[in-house]
Amino acid sequence: MQTVTDLFAAAAGKASFIRKMFEKGIELKQQFGEDAVCDFSLGNPDVPPPEAARAVLHKLADDAIRPLGLGYCPNAGIPAVRDAIAAYLSKQQGVALRGADVMMTVGAASALVCFFRATIDKGDEVIVPSPYFVEYGNYCGHFGGILKPVPTHEDFSLDVPAIAAAVTPKTRAIIVNSPNNPTGAIYSKDELASLVGVVERVNAERAEKGERPLFLLSDEPYRAFAYDGAEVPAILPLSKFALVLGSFSKTLSMAGERIGYIAVNPALTAEDGGAMMTTLTLVNRTLGYVNAPVIGQRLAAAICDTTVDLDIYKRRHDLMAKVLEDAGIEFTMPRGAFYFFPKAPGGDDAKFVDALLEEKILAVPGSGFGRAGYIRLSCAVDEKIIARSAEGFKRAKEKCQK
Ligand code: PLP
Repeated sequence: MQTVTDLFAAAAGKASFIRKMFEKGIELKQQFGEDAVCDFSLGNPDVPPPEAARAVLHKLADDAIRPLGLGYCPNAGIPAVRDAIAAYLSKQQGVALRGADVMMTVGAASALVCFFRATIDKGDEVIVPSPYFVEYGNYCGHFGGILKPVPTHEDFSLDVPAIAAAVTPKTRAIIVNSPNNPTGAIYSKDELASLVGVVERVNAERAEKGERPLFLLSDEPYRAFAYDGAEVPAILPLSKFALVLGSFSKTLSMAGERIGYIAVNPALTAEDGGAMMTTLTLVNRTLGYVNAPVIGQRLAAAICDTTVDLDIYKRRHDLMAKVLEDAGIEFTMPRGAFYFFPKAPGGDDAKFVDALLEEKILAVPGSGFGRAGYIRLSCAVDEKIIARSAEGFKRAKEKCQK
């Protein structure tokens, strides 16, 4: 008996690669013990939150026991929290934001969903450079949106002419995710400026025809993770059609607490009279998110200027690079985030993932991110696990290159 929609009955048959690896990981860990398995499949940050969180949480526990201490808050977030996040983003983006320009969300995920609900009609298109975070397709698909992946160059930099060629009258947004999941790429200011050139050109034509604009949506949950002096350029100063969203899931290791945000460019608000922010707030409520968790909002606001210990990630990054180099596995050095996206030796990502599984190493095939022939490795694991995987990578590579 089929109890759910055709769409989801079909989707259940093709559970995501990440989910499959997750289940395989549990099976292997039960069979061989936690320590025997090197699990590079998940992006759940394992580094403890900053120590500063402890005192804030104790105080929040005391403050919560009062009327409405744990009650609903305004749909766009607690006003003082919106002000704090606006100050944090103003510094980061170099554009003066007020609390009214920021909505607190249930992770970056719901910021994306709310944006799509606010801007997508059935059949509308969203462009994303590929490989990409695969949930984008699901999030816009709920509203009949169609994700159009446009391959990046070999080094994962943006192919701006190809993106420009993919824009149609139905394109509502281009998503950029930098530092990138899964490649670790950070887009340069020049790349972003040339992408903005495309957006501005399209919007000049649309304005003449009275059509809705094309947005540039910058998804930045990995902004703090940049290595070896790499800088993540700010997007808001480049165009009024740019929106920034992000979360504290990774930077404060509070992914389970589900706190994110979306900021609307004040220059856009000046033109649309606040319609975008009003609509985002409305859909946040009507989609049933209602408001981002109140304890998490207060925690994030109190410690948003700190981060987890980024040196831990840097050491893992360097060690993983060494493990792959020693195994002779080709990769582009990631400049940010905490992922590696190496080439699958022999070219078949599913086969390489299977060979790694035989070594009790869990990775995700690049096909799951829209780029076959590669695999994704997440460094949300201890250094000793990365070190332990070295021989397994060598053996799996040998097997696949025969
Ligand atoms: N965007 C990207 C690129 C991600 O990798 C993730 C999570 O892994 C998200 C958005 C969603 O993050 P959050 O936990 O803040 O909802």
